[in-house]
Amino acid sequence: MVLEKDIFKEFEDIVGVGNIDDGEVITNVYAYNWCMEIFNYMEGKEPIPFSPIPKAVVLPSSTVEVQQIVKLCNKYRIVFKAQSTGLGPWNQPSTDNSIIIDLRRMNKIVKIDEKNLYAVIEPYVSGSQLQVEIMKYGLNCHMPGAGPQVSPLASATSMNGPGFTSPSTGHSARNVLAVEWVLPDGEIMKLGAYGLKNNPDFFHGDGPGPSLRGIMRGWAGTKSGLGVFTKVAVKLFPYPCSTEYSVKGYSPNYDFEIPEFMKLYVMDCGNFKKLETVMLRVEEQEISFMCSYLSGFAVMAIFSNSIESLMDKIAIGQMKAPLVVIIAARTQREFYYKQKVMDFLLKKFKIKNIIGKIYTPNPTFYAEALRSNLGLHGFIATGGFQSTKGVADTANVCLRSTKSNIPLKKGFIKQGVIVNDFGEGTWMTSYESGHYFHMESPTMFDQTTEQSVSGMAEYMEKSNQLDLLKHLGAPFFVEGTRMHELFGPHMSNYHIWLRKIKETFDPNNISDSGFYITPQNK
Ligand SMILES: Cc1cc2nc3c(=O)[nH]c(=O)nc-3n(C[C@H](O)[C@H](O)[C@H](O)COP(=O)(O)OP(=O)(O)OC[C@H]3O[C@@H](n4cnc5c(N)ncnc54)[C@H](O)[C@@H]3O)c2cc1C
Repeated sequence: MVLEKDIFKEFEDIVGVGNIDDGEVITNVYAYNWCMEIFNYMEGKEPIPFSPIPKAVVLPSSTVEVQQIVKLCNKYRIVFKAQSTGLGPWNQPSTDNSIIIDLRRMNKIVKIDEKNLYAVIEPYVSGSQLQVEIMKYGLNCHMPGAGPQVSPLASATSMNGPGFTSPSTGHSARNVLAVEWVLPDGEIMKLGAYGLKNNPDFFHGDGPGPSLRGIMRGWAGTKSGLGVFTKVAVKLFPYPCSTEYSVKGYSPNYDFEIPEFMKLYVMDCGNFKKLETVMLRVEEQEISFMCSYLSGFAVMAIFSNSIESLMDKIAIGQMKAPLVVIIAARTQREFYYKQKVMDFLLKKFKIKNIIGKIYTPNPTFYAEALRSNLGLHGFIATGGFQSTKGVADTANVCLRSTKSNIPLKKGFIKQGVIVNDFGEGTWMTSYESGHYFHMESPTMFDQTTEQSVSGMAEYMEKSNQLDLLKHLGAPFFVEGTRMHELFGPHMSNYHIWLRKIKETFDPNNISDSGFYITPQNK
């Protein structure tokens, strides 16, 4: 279903010739995304990795152009789906009466305020681009576990947001300051200090008046269900160690000089009870750059970049409850202090660090940790990976969720539809020095066989519903009308309020609600 000629021309007049395409090749390419086959299966459709094909793809270069596009969509009742860097099924239109607004031309770092510790960015600035620029000021930014190639704006305004550095950099919802937001009807909303009449700036995310941050993104983001974000200010943090970044060699065999004051600990806590105690104690000391529980298989994966190197590490995979901690410092004294605290805790809890004794990782591991690039190792075994769970709660609830999932996962492993990670595949991180925790259950499957795709989809449904049955919080894949209506009645009927927000901001359902919620009767 392509755009009518006259309508195409109106869009083209906004973005300029060459910045809109409704050809078969481009629109089909944009219909593809990683894991789309799973979501199709869950909705009773053919499990292929393609969404409905968009009518066209438009590439605006400014907020004004985005605004005009959105107004035109309203005029002709065409749905729009916004993409920043576009990784994942959440970027896909839910209807073929839709265009994709690809924001890749809006790629500027607008401002770095090194004194007040924030940066203002456009949608297509990647985490790695931002990090490289702010490292010049000795600063760092939060990135989601997806990695440095994705958009901090998308994560801050529209997606979830746990990351490997969450103990020291938090969650994306906690990092967002002022935003510039094109609402579903095309009006521009400026949140926080950017909305001030006099001297507008980006340093503050709330007000003037009541904060709309909850409506804007809540916990998990509206995923393009409530307009388009065109600028955002994100918090910056001190870089954890020296910013000297010495890399030699060629991909994938880089040689990285490990910064002077950086140390990795991998410790088997033996069981979940002890793991919880140790993790809480480490985090209470506020010394970690990274502090994650990774199942044995996941520890093998973060140190590997091929199946062969993964299989080499079976011995590490035997650990029962491994805790991975990185400490980093900018001075000898700070480093000495942090090591001393770790030495004390290791002794107190009678646990050992295997690094340097039983196992020594390739130095590129440290570079990947600094660049938040560990998540992509989830693809190594089969090329296909997706997570379930995603709860944000206490360490205890996260570990209960982990434990309750093991028998379920083992059942699907037995059927041969997902990879055998002993049922334990888990990543759990602390947020903000242990104030709360994130847990998810990454699972590898084979995207190329229907049996594995359908098995994975069934496992995901059951795994997420288990949290509901056992009162273990809301998984991050509660998205789209069906899931909100399933979970809402068990959670103070929040879905009714979510729907009211959608109806207020977007009664005509022009901002794609596929991963948000539809207005009544749409
Ligand atoms: C290996 C791997 C690990 C992952 N780990 C994590 C993790 O630890 N934590 C986590 O949070 N996520 C994780 N994810 C999912 C990840 O968050 C998303 O894939 C990632 O944030 C996508 O970022 P992006 O820049 O590509 O955003 P996009 O994919 O472009 O956008 C994400 C969503 O926001 C919407 N959107 C994007 N830009 C705008 C805009 N300007 N205005 C309005 N809506 C917009 C999109 O429609 C989409 O729904 C992981 C993914 C992978 C592949």
